[in-house]
Amino acid sequence: MNSYAYNCKFCSKPGIVKADPLGLEMFTLEKWLPKIACNRCGAFMDLKFKITQELNRMCRVLQTDSKVKRGDEKIKAKLVILTKRYSQVACDYYRLTNVWEEQFAEMIFDHPGELYTILNTYLQQLAREARKATTASV
Ligand SMILES: [Zn+2]
Repeated sequence: MNSYAYNCKFCSKPGIVKADPLGLEMFTLEKWLPKIACNRCGAFMDLKFKITQELNRMCRVLQTDSKVKRGDEKIKAKLVILTKRYSQVACDYYRLTNVWEEQFAEMIFDHPGELYTILNTYLQQLAREARKATTASV
């Protein structure tokens, strides 16, 4: 086993990864090391991916099922649960107080085709707040 230094591809935190150099033969190190994420980011990306998939399923139902009425309370209730989980996971990651607003679920309900834009905007907002919080405490 050899140790290799890397920077997390998401938060650029430095870390060390142990790997068998023989197992790395098929990869070139310069290509492989920039793709590594630290545990914290890896766990977040994994959860985020799972919740996003579920949200996406709900959005597809909203977009395609003609029997679903726009005011369907069941779908709205699911979106509330999923967006709450999403904001919990994201706020934990950015070390922020959980700031879920009903508007978050409503926006997705009203614009299911823009799910990814809505989620990205939300994450960008959190990242900005997290940056502000770090500069304020220094
Ligand atoms: Zn990281």
